[in-house]
Amino acid sequence: MKLKSVNPATLEVLAEIDTTPVEEVFEISKKAQEVFRKWSATTIDERLKLLKDARDILYREKDEIAKLITLENGKPILESYSMEIFPTLDLFEFHIKNARKILKPRKVRSQIPLFWLKRNYIHFEPLGVVAVISPWNYPLLLPIAPIISALVAGNCVIFKPSEYTSLIGLKIYEIFKEAGFPDGVFNIVVGFGDVGEALVNSHIDKISFTGSTKTGRIIMQNAGKKPIPVTLELGGKDPMIVFDDVDIDLVSSSAVWGAFANAGQTCVSVEICYVQEKIFDDFVEKVVEKTKNLKIGNGLDPDVEIGPINNERQLMIIEKQIEDAISKGAKILTGGKRIYPKDKNGNELKGYFFEPTVITDVDNSMLLMREETFGPVLPIVKFKDEDEVIEMANSSEYGLSASVWTKDKKRAKRIVEKIKSGSVLVNECVVHYGDAKAPCGGVKSSGFGRVHSEFGIYDMVNVKFESFDFVSPYRLWWFGYDEKLLVTIKDAISFLYSPSLFQRLKSSLFLVPNLFRKEKSKI
Ligand code: NAD
Repeated sequence: MKLKSVNPATLEVLAEIDTTPVEEVFEISKKAQEVFRKWSATTIDERLKLLKDARDILYREKDEIAKLITLENGKPILESYSMEIFPTLDLFEFHIKNARKILKPRKVRSQIPLFWLKRNYIHFEPLGVVAVISPWNYPLLLPIAPIISALVAGNCVIFKPSEYTSLIGLKIYEIFKEAGFPDGVFNIVVGFGDVGEALVNSHIDKISFTGSTKTGRIIMQNAGKKPIPVTLELGGKDPMIVFDDVDIDLVSSSAVWGAFANAGQTCVSVEICYVQEKIFDDFVEKVVEKTKNLKIGNGLDPDVEIGPINNERQLMIIEKQIEDAISKGAKILTGGKRIYPKDKNGNELKGYFFEPTVITDVDNSMLLMREETFGPVLPIVKFKDEDEVIEMANSSEYGLSASVWTKDKKRAKRIVEKIKSGSVLVNECVVHYGDAKAPCGGVKSSGFGRVHSEFGIYDMVNVKFESFDFVSPYRLWWFGYDEKLLVTIKDAISFLYSPSLFQRLKSSLFLVPNLFRKEKSKI
């Protein structure tokens, strides 16, 4: 079977790609299991050397890759560099500089003094074969994070790119191959949901999934049959909360960028803007004015700010939500429909463009307010005070990220503590996803587990506790229970945990001789 890679701006077919037959997915996973034994025995320095080579190839090919991202995904070329190439190189840097330290075995002294004769360690072992299943919205950045965290920890990887961005997936595969990762260590399977499902059911030991909440639920069910661990990076409905003490001009620019960068197809984009009543009208006016000035078109033109929606399925979701909102009384202030912008030669583009849309008079009966839109649509809602806006923001089924805009540091801290989400930014939005040291992930229907930072690497390992004891004599707590042992255990509890110093000292007088009594029967 073949799938078509399509340029969403022009609808031109970029390539026809053979999909991986489902039976082959199982074969690839079996081979990866065999290869894993050898690969997991490599040293971290050997793996980091390959990672450095992959980083250098990505750097060398950055122009070709940025262009491919714009062609296949649709985003403006500037964003292909700023929101894909840039943070992806930084993820490599982070792993190259920090993975050795993060994965270094640790010596731990037991909490309980009775165990102090033991030598205890924590080792971070690879899990085995990791499936990385990705969406289309950031086709380079999103898969690379779990791929390199998994590889550097000694896992093998089977990567399933989105059916809408398979060419970029294949380019990632080429990079790792050219870098010299041995056969079977980094693998790719190409295709639709059925290929993803086959991968989930194949011989794998962990799934790192980024995509919709709907697919995440199916994946978790299937993974539960084995069971194997899953990391789910799912949808979001991120609120931007704007208080009336802000610089309206500055913050309205942020709202427009946060909602419309990558045509709103960012998991941590601003999906709803809550604005305090005193500045509501002025703020909305500025947002509308700035939105109308955005340049829509083919992302290959360097001054284009809004590219197409990546695919028709996503465009239809956006259209359905707008229709539903209008039918329930919402007011469109700008945008609201599909358009066919002209390219620089004056020719109409046939792709999946949707006007950046600002919308007010919305309420929770509308799909737009409850479900993820994942498009260039910004509903703006008025609020009175802190309590009201926290309740509004936390009423969402999702909890991926949020932003708070105010000059009042104490208020910012109060709100940050009360928002239920994986991250909250003050006077900033979206960009933390590009920071390799910021753990990213969600709560509620936005999923669980983390990518990026040391937590993304720990997500890919078995945290193994190893304890060595070559010196302890017969253990006090073994069988041979009697009254005297009961008293000894009680004394140990009092000695360690009694709030009274006198009681502790008293217990120690009885405890010490009893700890080493010889006459206990050995069973
Ligand atoms: P999707 O769930 O439709 O597809 C994601 C991937 O899963 C694709 O590769 C697809 O082929 C595969 N797939 C589909 N059905 C499958 C099945 N039954 N078993 C295994 N794999 C299957 O998502 P999408 O439309 O590609 O991406 C958009 C979604 O991704 C949005 O909801 C967005 O919020 C989310 N997202 C989340 C994050 C995050 O970090 N939380 C980041 C980016 C995107």
